[in-house]
Amino acid sequence: MKVTTDRFRQTALEELANARTQKFLQILPLRLSARRQEAYGSFSDPEAAHRLGQAIRGEALARLPELLETFERNALANGAKIFWAADSQAANRYIADLARSKGARYVTKGKSMITEELGLNDHLAQCGISAWETDLGEFIAQLLEKPPFHIVGPAINIPVEQIRDIFLEKGVLDQPTLDPVTLGRAARRFLRDKFRDLQMGITGVNIAVAETGTVINVENEGNIRFNKSAPKTLVCVMSLEKVVPTLADALHQLRVLCRSATGQAAGAYISLDSGPKKADETDGPEELHIVILDNGRSAIYQNRHTREALRCIRCGACLNACPVYGKVGGYPYGWAYSGPMGQVLTPALRGLAETGDLIRACTLCHRCKTICPAGIDHPGLLLHYRNKDVQADPLLQGRGADPRERLAHRLFALAGSRYTYWRIFSKVLSRAARLFGKGAMLRGLGPLGRGWFLSRDLPAPAKKSFHERWRQRKD
Ligand code: SF4
Repeated sequence: MKVTTDRFRQTALEELANARTQKFLQILPLRLSARRQEAYGSFSDPEAAHRLGQAIRGEALARLPELLETFERNALANGAKIFWAADSQAANRYIADLARSKGARYVTKGKSMITEELGLNDHLAQCGISAWETDLGEFIAQLLEKPPFHIVGPAINIPVEQIRDIFLEKGVLDQPTLDPVTLGRAARRFLRDKFRDLQMGITGVNIAVAETGTVINVENEGNIRFNKSAPKTLVCVMSLEKVVPTLADALHQLRVLCRSATGQAAGAYISLDSGPKKADETDGPEELHIVILDNGRSAIYQNRHTREALRCIRCGACLNACPVYGKVGGYPYGWAYSGPMGQVLTPALRGLAETGDLIRACTLCHRCKTICPAGIDHPGLLLHYRNKDVQADPLLQGRGADPRERLAHRLFALAGSRYTYWRIFSKVLSRAARLFGKGAMLRGLGPLGRGWFLSRDLPAPAKKSFHERWRQRKD
């Protein structure tokens, strides 16, 4: 997957001019938010359920090292194999070597953000192994070589004509049709064929349970269940923060996850796997490999601010609440994670050097924080990142302040330091505003701060200051 986080601004402008994107964004986030709201109503005490979900994430993070050790111990006892991957290269190498050792020419995949983060499909392709996405939306996005538009609807914005054309081009469809059901059936036939004689399947992990060594996946299409039961070898890739203490915690997290993601009380298929197929079982893989991915998370965990980003359960509710996502959609975020979820995860995982626009594309309205079932303080984290960016923090690859901005702040501080300076400053500003202002709004100060004024509304200063008017009134 091509990473384009540093093109946030350009892609956002393209998407703002894209009528189709705008049409979808008027419907999708609102509809999903309404469904979430309704589904939360099915809890006897929605507020308490929300708080319990947040507390589970808080405890899971506080005990993360211990929980990971317990999970590993129990998963090994269940017969699973554990691979700790320090970074994406290590994870990709392990999975590709495993596929080769099993003689797999191709693998199938369940929808997973983590394998997008790894760039696994590209790596496998370089090793001569095809990777087939089996979630319908991901399959369409894969054929079109597009990133996901929305975490629960990766290709929801793609016109049916485009799907017909790509299906015909890739041999998924024999006869042209625009009937969505026929298109869906064609994809199903095509992918079902891949499950026959499948050597290796790959999925992500929604939740890992420490006390039982179980990995849990939730979905609506049944393709993850196929990926888990059809092949002889199953690889489940999880980021290390996915572990929770108990099965009871996992079940509650599932309740809030499903409600927050798709507005369902529960997904259509929930799979709990504790080890590979047992002697008395008919279905399931003979080998279960669990890849636990770090990829910078240990460093994130060391910092009490960035650690908060690891609470995320990837429900996507914040995307639907975000006014910025609601205008630009998923493409500008340029990587596996979009919306506020991406704005807190991507800078921590990839550094600030390529995410400077991402952390600033936020109005700090707090809507994401209010609905987040994991209890993430997105605005607080974004302010932390902005601060680290202007301070050129080496750990997060901050870039340092723009010298013009630094000078402007110094001048402003100087102006505010003495009353005389302030009077001179406000007089100059008021004159400049009369010269360059348009009506009641300031739209720039000549050659200064054009970009700043492009995205901000600043009322033009009054002709006379309060002090001047006060003096006149007394006279
Ligand atoms: S940040 Fe919160 S609301 Fe957004 S996807 Fe993660 S858990 Fe869901």
